[in-house]
Amino acid sequence: MDRTTRSTCPYCGVGCGVLIDTTDTAEGPQITGVRGDPDHPANAGRLCTKGATLHLTATPMVRQQQRQLQPAWRPARGAALQAITWDAVEQQLAERLLAVRAEHGPDAIGFYISGQLLTEDYHAFNKLARGLVGTNHIDSNSRLCMSAAVVGYKQTLGADAPPTCYEDLNLASCLFLAGTNTAWAHPVLFRRIEAARAARPDLKIIVVDPRRTETAEFADLHLPLRPGTDVALFQGMLHACIWEDWVDRAFIEQHTEGFEALKALVRTMTPGEAARLTGLKEAQVMQAAQWFAQSPASLSLYCMGLNQSSSGTAKNTALIHLHLATGQIGRPGAGPFSLTGQPNAMGGRETGGMATLLPGHRDPMRAQDREEIAALWGCDPLPDRPGRTAVEMFEAAARGEIKALWIACTNPAQSLPDQALVRAALSRCELVILQEAFVGTATADFADVLLPAATWAEKDGTVTNSERRISRVRAALAPAGESKPDWQIVRDVAVRMEAVLRPDAASLFAWERPQQLWDEHRAATRGRDLDITGLSYEQLEAAPQQWPFPEGAQQGRARLYEDRRFAHADGRARFVARPFVPPAERQDASYPLALSTGRLRDQWHGMSRSGTVPRLFAHAPSPALHLHPTDIARRRLQEGALVRVASRRGAMVVPLRADDALSPQSAWLPMHWGSEFVGGQGQLGVNAVTQPVFCPDARQPELKFAAVSVTAVDLR
Ligand code: SF4
Repeated sequence: MDRTTRSTCPYCGVGCGVLIDTTDTAEGPQITGVRGDPDHPANAGRLCTKGATLHLTATPMVRQQQRQLQPAWRPARGAALQAITWDAVEQQLAERLLAVRAEHGPDAIGFYISGQLLTEDYHAFNKLARGLVGTNHIDSNSRLCMSAAVVGYKQTLGADAPPTCYEDLNLASCLFLAGTNTAWAHPVLFRRIEAARAARPDLKIIVVDPRRTETAEFADLHLPLRPGTDVALFQGMLHACIWEDWVDRAFIEQHTEGFEALKALVRTMTPGEAARLTGLKEAQVMQAAQWFAQSPASLSLYCMGLNQSSSGTAKNTALIHLHLATGQIGRPGAGPFSLTGQPNAMGGRETGGMATLLPGHRDPMRAQDREEIAALWGCDPLPDRPGRTAVEMFEAAARGEIKALWIACTNPAQSLPDQALVRAALSRCELVILQEAFVGTATADFADVLLPAATWAEKDGTVTNSERRISRVRAALAPAGESKPDWQIVRDVAVRMEAVLRPDAASLFAWERPQQLWDEHRAATRGRDLDITGLSYEQLEAAPQQWPFPEGAQQGRARLYEDRRFAHADGRARFVARPFVPPAERQDASYPLALSTGRLRDQWHGMSRSGTVPRLFAHAPSPALHLHPTDIARRRLQEGALVRVASRRGAMVVPLRADDALSPQSAWLPMHWGSEFVGGQGQLGVNAVTQPVFCPDARQPELKFAAVSVTAVDLR
């Protein structure tokens, strides 16, 4: 080993620190191994299977055979991709984007980016979209991950700021895990939970999940509710807390607004009624309420099971209401804690790289917020037209309203719901630009232009994890082939466009180093709830830090609202009275099963990176539809045989697996496999059957509930 580079794991929102060991060879530096960073506060040296095999995603063979190594374009739709120089492709793209803008207006261009990007990349895309092109049509695949958590925090606490930290896992006396299979999706955090349980036998762990997951197996109380009924459970628990006088009346009176309206709303949501709606026992609802309210410190962890829902915001706010009503917030070990799926979903929120946000947690629909950012950037007034969010952007493209889509570091032709619609949208666009590190994603089939992006171990910048902790990402290798860091690709096209659009003005994109983008980003946070004006790259060299970190600070803040002053203008938190609404789609005789999708322990998203590591397939080598044994018997199906899963939108063919961790009348599919693995050519993969409906407040699509049928495949 010749060198060690300190960086951050690129997989999930835990944000573990890694040490990358490299050695010099005749072919150049090569990564020989990855170790957990013992000095990183997120993981203290631990790694999960994905993190521990990271080096296998950057071997010389993977870098040569599985990476997009040079720019490519199609001379015509359906033609084969051809190599092209960076100079030629940048000029071609600038001209084509300018032509679309001139003919159809700025809102004919959309940007669909990713929570895998670094904060600096997000800033570059945001400045191009809003500051130069003049559109708010920029959204991220983080819309599929945490936008309901964002809106839930803003509506109740006043700001998109998780108020808790990982240390609270060690300090809580009750852990309330809702819609999170932490053991598989955030494994290093689960190690903390296991350690907490070993250290404190009196710790109460409640898991809310329709499936008996590995996390649920660990619980003192597992609540296997009917899919989509979380709000009924949380409101039933609140009813019990009010009835039993387990609420903190002084806290409610001094620090909140809106309690009486919510109290009136939940009057009829008795624990018995909640039990009827959720399929749980009344005693289970009562037990959960008592442990939550009466434990010295209750911490709730929640993730996609709440967020990926047509009532995602309602689920988030209903859970936060429990914290506010019982005073379980603003103290060590107590509070709501949304876990982010992606490594930098938080950075995207901070930079405003989403349709509904501007930098520094500003609002694109507020004139003052737009003016502040335009003044900071030195650009024309920012657009005041609403931006399209992820699903809406593809719906608009399918209608012909968006003509050009620039997609970066994500694979919508596999990962968005209702694949038939997404693929129709991509086919209808005049120009699809795909900026991607790996070859062979489903979206590449629709791309007119492919831009090779650098990836993990080749990039410099920053990411923010679930506990608001910002860590440096550092390059250990030069980018593979001709690939470039994402922010550089954006810059090099943008400067050609601004030569036409702003010929006499100073460049908005005069960046040579990622630090310059970082400094622009942190300047936009001055005076905001996430103020990081004091957090320079030099400061981050010493240690990762949590925000806020204003100028003059010595360290970031572990917990928020310890002074009981919330982020609404009057300092008071809000209860938002909102009735329980059942899932948008109903099961019926034609589609009798409730399907949910989710993660496997050892794979990541569409597997473009984790799929390069054979070892990771040992856990689950292929996809399977999970069904309860009674449902298999009732349909006279055979475990292991191929079955056809059909919804009102599409169908797919997949092997069947018996799983008594599910309730009868429900089904589960892993999210990772696309058309290239599931059912072969002409099939659309897991998202053939999911629904494009979304939460009206957060615009996050429903990936946890689709009514489906399952039938045998006739192979004769
Ligand atoms: Fe990487 Fe997440 Fe595993 Fe940590 S828990 S090593 S961040 S995948």
